[in-house]
Amino acid sequence: MGRGAEGLVLVINSGSSSIKYQLLDPESSVVAAYGTVERIGEDDGAIEHHAHGETTVRCRPIADHTTGLRLVFDMFSATGRDLVREDVRAVGHRVVHGGEVFYRPTLIDDSVVDAISELSALAPLHNPANVAGIESARELLPGVPQVAVFDTAFFHSLPDAAKTYAIDAELAAAHGIRKYGFHGTSHEYVSGRAAALLGRDPAELNQIVFHLGNGASASAIRGGRPIDTSMGLTPLEGLVMGTRPGDLDPGIVPHLARSARLDIDQIDALLNRDSGIKGLSGVNDFRELQRLIDGGDRTARLAYDVYIHRLRRYLGAYLVELGGVDAITFTAGVGENSPQVRADALANLARFGIEVDQTANTANDRGARHISPPEAPVAVLVVPTNEELAIARAAHRVVAETT
Ligand code: ADP
Repeated sequence: MGRGAEGLVLVINSGSSSIKYQLLDPESSVVAAYGTVERIGEDDGAIEHHAHGETTVRCRPIADHTTGLRLVFDMFSATGRDLVREDVRAVGHRVVHGGEVFYRPTLIDDSVVDAISELSALAPLHNPANVAGIESARELLPGVPQVAVFDTAFFHSLPDAAKTYAIDAELAAAHGIRKYGFHGTSHEYVSGRAAALLGRDPAELNQIVFHLGNGASASAIRGGRPIDTSMGLTPLEGLVMGTRPGDLDPGIVPHLARSARLDIDQIDALLNRDSGIKGLSGVNDFRELQRLIDGGDRTARLAYDVYIHRLRRYLGAYLVELGGVDAITFTAGVGENSPQVRADALANLARFGIEVDQTANTANDRGARHISPPEAPVAVLVVPTNEELAIARAAHRVVAETT
């Protein structure tokens, strides 16, 4: 048997056909185990579980989220840890949309589950999957407190001028249409870490954070609070992403309906799954895009140029909104790992005090670090995000406060 799970938090990020999970200590941030269940609902489901430095893979059909989570528990048992019998301190769930209702980590009861379900109209691709994960976890660990941590929460207090869309005000109010913003857990965590790296109080800093993963978003943060962010009512708005276009003339939607005779679900799928880098180049993984560019592929080059162009547009907008910036931070898969993207996003901005040091930028370093020259007025940083740790800490805090 492994060490008991007392004090550990199980973090669950439940997607439409996947469950990502981590068991970790919120205080020391040590991860005891983690893994992914993939292709739930299909014949070729699989789980990959990492514990004690070993990886175990099992392939089998996984009918639904409860079956998937049961498989996770089986994997824990097979690697020496019985999650049902040991004392897991809390389960922290990533929930994508908290709407106007949820703006802080929330202890889950039946009414919270119902409210998250009701918000599915705003996030039909995400919230139902989050609810499935919550219901499965409550069933399997009935005595353990469960906490929902919302992707929208950090942006709840965006200024009215930033969060309001210029459409019919009554219609917008009736249908909850406003900018909500997403990746909030990451933007909050990374901006806090950036301030710590600079040895400064977040209250004193103007920051811009670029979270560049498969999904991508930017935020402008003044004194620790966001004043703008690139994602909107849904995660479709803003930066160019792996499979989403980001900003788009809204007129394109009716034009596609009339001209290409696509119905609304087809357009939704096109915008969520087949646009962005993938729509332009055929691949959504940035490493593959880089390989295509290196091989002389011109459509891949264009996809990259569109991606960088959009990043710079947001950088310019946020520089002005903030009235100057102290720190620009890159995070997530692309932001942490692509020196090229970081260098291109910030090229030729020395007159604004923004410079990237080539040696620091290309150094083989994975930790939180500076990539600007020491004397540059604006600190440019790379800070690895850790949403699981932030969720575990939030869940731990809520449980400590309420029990
Ligand atoms: P998400 O959590 O949104 O699924 P990640 O933050 O894991 O995404 O980022 C995934 C993206 O990061 C992919 O496009 C992947 O190609 C990119 N990425 C990962 N490693 C590298 C790397 N070494 N160089 C460039 N891009 C990378």
